[in-house]
Amino acid sequence: MIGVVGGGQLAMLLVEAGKKRDVDVVVQTAVKTDPAAKDTKQIILHDPKSAEGTKLLAEKTNFITFENEWIDIPGLVSLQNNGVSFFPSLKSISPLINKITQRELLNTLDIPCPDWLTIPLEKSFRIDLPSDWTFPMMAKTAKGGYDGKGTKIIKNSEQLQELINDETKEQWMLEKWISFEKELSIVSSRDSKGKVRFFPIVETCQSNQICDWVLAPADINNDVALLVKNIVSSLLVELDYVGVIAIEFFYGPEGLLVNEIAPRTHNSGHFSIDACSSSQFDQQICITSGIDVPMPEMIVNGALMANLLGLQSGYPTSVSQRLDDLKAIPGLNIHWYKKEEEKKGRKLGHVTYLLNKKDSLSRKKEALSVLKNIRSIWPTS
Ligand code: ATP
Ligand code: MG
Repeated sequence: MIGVVGGGQLAMLLVEAGKKRDVDVVVQTAVKTDPAAKDTKQIILHDPKSAEGTKLLAEKTNFITFENEWIDIPGLVSLQNNGVSFFPSLKSISPLINKITQRELLNTLDIPCPDWLTIPLEKSFRIDLPSDWTFPMMAKTAKGGYDGKGTKIIKNSEQLQELINDETKEQWMLEKWISFEKELSIVSSRDSKGKVRFFPIVETCQSNQICDWVLAPADINNDVALLVKNIVSSLLVELDYVGVIAIEFFYGPEGLLVNEIAPRTHNSGHFSIDACSSSQFDQQICITSGIDVPMPEMIVNGALMANLLGLQSGYPTSVSQRLDDLKAIPGLNIHWYKKEEEKKGRKLGHVTYLLNKKDSLSRKKEALSVLKNIRSIWPTS
């Protein structure tokens, strides 16, 4: 038995992976109707940010993993000192829970990332922007951002001043705009013996800063692939990280730049449930519960994953109609998160289609043609 702090779709998919290996997963989540809570008999009904809740979770199991990085690290230290094993450990996760400390880590290790600066919390501050920065720029909250929430495109100096004057006292960072050719992502794992395993590098496509689709494997040359794997390994070893991690990259005229590190399973790895011999959730189950970790091999030529995001209220077709229409696409694997309500932009599920074509160009064509079909039924939010 293992515990997971968090009860959303990533925890739900972990519970599903656990069932395949007879590993029970106890879920710490605030709401009984959260996706993972519906799928398990064992729930600790506490906010995932509550260390008190995690203490109750630790009464059930000493092996605990996380759904996301919004955790109370200082509050959890005493549990770790009393024999609870966290995957990843509190020490290795702590520089990753904040985008600013992530960037500091990357800079220290000389791993390329977009130029960035911190927006000071004092109001009426004037920022001296580096001379090569032009609008637009990207602003990001240091903590708590996901699915584009917590990102703001800053188009001019008025908007920049508004950000500086932000009343919420949120800590923001500002980033140079990157004109990338492609976004890439890789999910990897490192086990307690230090062995690193890689899922295939994927191409991701974001719309309004939210992941729209993912194509596995990405069509990139060997040098880029080696650099990606080298960066991941360096980070994992530096952090002495044990668990599953995802790293997002920009690739283009400025080379390969790390955009974000997610110390957990990730939307860009969902294709692995249907397309790999061991999914990202299976890796998390094995590492957390001490089962021998298998190699995650791709067992098909390729895969397309598309997110199903909530549409605006009053959309002409109902959710169940859209799902029925998707079911009519032969070979489409539907993963539904059983959320109570359709809200615009909310991740409600995802679909995966296994690709047959052997060469990467025709495979991408195949993927885009299936995607067109999917989006005619369920458009991007
Ligand atoms: P996630 O859901 O993966 O946690 P997030 O909401 O934390 O994402 P980011 O990954 O930092 O946010 O940014 C979301 C998207 O915004 C990126 O995938 C990319 O498409 C775009 N983006 C972010 N930073 C930049 C930048 N500096 N220049 C251009 N586009 C950017
Ligand atoms: Mg991201």
